[in-house]
Amino acid sequence: MPIKAAAIIGAGIAGLTAALALARHGIASDIFEQADVLTEVGAGLQISPNASRILDTLGVLDKLRAVWLEPEEVRLVSGSSLRPVASVPCGNFARERWGAPYGAVHRATLQKALLEAVKANALCRLHLGRHIDIKNRQALEEITGKEFDLVIGADGVWSKAHAMVPGAPSPLFSGNIAWRFSIPESAAPSLLNKKNVTAFLGPSSHLVCYPIRENAAFNIVAIVSGSSTSRNWGAAGSNVQREQMLHGFSGWNGKILQMLEAQEQASFWPLYQMKAGRWHNGSDTILIGDAAHAMMPFAAQGAAMAIEDAFELAGMLSARSVAETFELYEKRRAPRIARLKQRAAFNQFAYHARGPIRLARDLVLSLRPPQSLAADMDWIYGYRAIG
Ligand SMILES: Cc1cc2nc3c(=O)[nH]c(=O)nc-3n(C[C@H](O)[C@H](O)[C@H](O)COP(=O)(O)OP(=O)(O)OC[C@H]3O[C@@H](n4cnc5c(N)ncnc54)[C@H](O)[C@@H]3O)c2cc1C
Repeated sequence: MPIKAAAIIGAGIAGLTAALALARHGIASDIFEQADVLTEVGAGLQISPNASRILDTLGVLDKLRAVWLEPEEVRLVSGSSLRPVASVPCGNFARERWGAPYGAVHRATLQKALLEAVKANALCRLHLGRHIDIKNRQALEEITGKEFDLVIGADGVWSKAHAMVPGAPSPLFSGNIAWRFSIPESAAPSLLNKKNVTAFLGPSSHLVCYPIRENAAFNIVAIVSGSSTSRNWGAAGSNVQREQMLHGFSGWNGKILQMLEAQEQASFWPLYQMKAGRWHNGSDTILIGDAAHAMMPFAAQGAAMAIEDAFELAGMLSARSVAETFELYEKRRAPRIARLKQRAAFNQFAYHARGPIRLARDLVLSLRPPQSLAADMDWIYGYRAIG
């Protein structure tokens, strides 16, 4: 029998999408978020067609479209010579090939669009300032005085909902740090391209840059190896950490180094990924998004997977019991997530290659036409989530 009410822990991308997707099937939800206000956490996000298609179905894409950038292409560029290595077309090409747009937006813009839709939906109730740390569904019901058929743990890498799922995955530091900062368009050096997503590649590090139109600024993410002393995303890095970051770019093109050296406001994001583990307890609790499978950002798919998870889970719940849903969900989602993690690992290897491997990479990529590189993305971007 389909469920009537769910409790969702976490109002990030996964939790808010889950609430909207459940409401689409007439299922009510209470969303518990530890933050008192949903602030502008994070930076830019690329939203690929597999996710934008879902956001369109949930009625939030128009709000993003009004402000986002639809890049003409995603370009790979050498971090030393600044020569283009390869590109994947986006823009109209993406709409035609994958049936939905590819866009870049601030994470806060996406969260706000989802939040407004949640607030406007009578089946969704958001509780801010509610940090949930419990061992089972009954404990949640005692706290809230409400009955739930299901608990969805959408509380990110440091999930407390893990305590309700024996054998849940645990986070592992990847050895990489993401440094994020933004540069106002008016002060941007000419190497930053206003129309595209550009990934500059170099030995053991890379840099992703694209404009966030709604902020009139470029979003820059530098990924380098480093050690983590913090669980927090978005903390300001120390001077020592900043020196390590700059060290990761030594030997790069002088224009890039100059741009990085000028950034004093960079924030420090240690990158964790989830080890393999169980996503549900077989009866009433399931983990989605980063709480289940946080991954490295090398394929720019973490938020897209959170959106797919939420949408498919709700679709399955609308026609099945919780136990049947869990079984089907795992069967459908686990191979896709595993393949994506492999893809992210491959991208890391290719992006950070050095010496002869880097030369071979550049040669192979430069010989492949953009259409052929786009075909490699069909299984990711062309995916039709069942909802
Ligand atoms: C550098 C970088 C670049 C990225 N770029 C992209 C990209 O271009 N495209 C893309 O698709 N993905 C990208 N990602 C990945 C993406 O940001 C994440 O996968 C996504 O935000 C995960 O969403 P989530 O809702 O699962 O978790 P989170 O965003 O972590 O949300 C969890 C929510 O739960 C709340 N919470 C936590 N614990 C509790 C508790 N105990 N009680 C109540 N509430 C709680 C938190 O406050 C938070 O609001 C990137 C990630 C990084 C680090």
